[in-house]
Amino acid sequence: MPDSTRRSFLKEVSAAVGALSLGGEPLQASTMPGRPPGAASGTEKHKVFNIMSVAAHPGDAFFAMGAPVALAIHQGAKGSLLSLSLGERGSATIPPERYGAMQRAAAKKAASMIGATAEFLHYPDGEVPLNEEAKFAVCDFIRQYKPDIVVTHWKGSWHKDHRACYQIVQDAIFYAALPAIARKLPPHSVGKLFFDDNWEDATGFVPDTYLDITPVFEPWMNACAVFPMWRGENGFRYDDYYGSLAVARGCVANCEKAVTLMSPPEQQVRHLHVL
Ligand SMILES: [Zn+2]
Repeated sequence: MPDSTRRSFLKEVSAAVGALSLGGEPLQASTMPGRPPGAASGTEKHKVFNIMSVAAHPGDAFFAMGAPVALAIHQGAKGSLLSLSLGERGSATIPPERYGAMQRAAAKKAASMIGATAEFLHYPDGEVPLNEEAKFAVCDFIRQYKPDIVVTHWKGSWHKDHRACYQIVQDAIFYAALPAIARKLPPHSVGKLFFDDNWEDATGFVPDTYLDITPVFEPWMNACAVFPMWRGENGFRYDDYYGSLAVARGCVANCEKAVTLMSPPEQQVRHLHVL
C-alpha cells in the first residue's frame, strides 16, 4: 500500500473511532432500517444512553464485549451484560456445578468493577437452545434494560452456542420492538446492533467500527482477570490475546488501545444529502 493511501486509511479509521460517543447526533430508536417501529421509538431523544451485551457465556460477555460496555459506561451510559449460560462446562478439572458458581460470582464481581449489571439465563453450557422461549427471554431483558445499543456474537463461529446466540438476539430485538407482542413490559426499539471481535467468531468478521478504549483498558482488564480462565487455565491465553489485540487495533486506530466491532449490513446504509 503506498504511503499516501496508508495515511488516508488510518485517517479514515481514526475519524470513525469513538462511534459509541454520546457526542454528535443523539441515537434514535429508528436507526436500524427494516426494524419495526416500537411504541417508545420515533424521534424521542434518549436522555440516558444504555448499552447491553448478550453473550453465550460470561467469558464472552467480558473478554470480547466488555470493553465497549466499559467505554459506554465511562461516557455516561448504563451498561448490562447478559449471559445465556454460565459456561459451566468450560473446565476440564472443576465439576460443572462448582465451576458454574465460580463463573457466576466472577461475572457479578467483574460487572461491579466496571459499573455494570450482570444478568444470566441458565441454559446448559453447550446446549443453548435456538427456540422461541430463549428469544422471548432475551426480548424481556431488552424491554427491561431498554438498550440503545446491543453488542452480541457474530455468526461466523465454530461454537454452536455462539451461533445460537447470534440468531436469538436478532429475533429478540425484533420481538422487543413489536407493540403487538404483549409481554410484561412495553416494547422497546434498539437503536444499533454490533457484533464483537471474538477469537472464536472470526470467520467472516470484518471490523468497521474502532473504539478508543484507552481510558477503560486497565479497569476492563482487571475485571476480566477475576475469571478463573483468563490466564490460560483452560487452554487459551485470553489475557495475552485480548490485551495484545487491543494494542494492535490501537495501532490502526491511531490511539493507544482499541477494540473493533462489526455492523449488520443494513446499519451500514448511509444517507447523504450532498456528495
Ligand atoms: Zn463462548
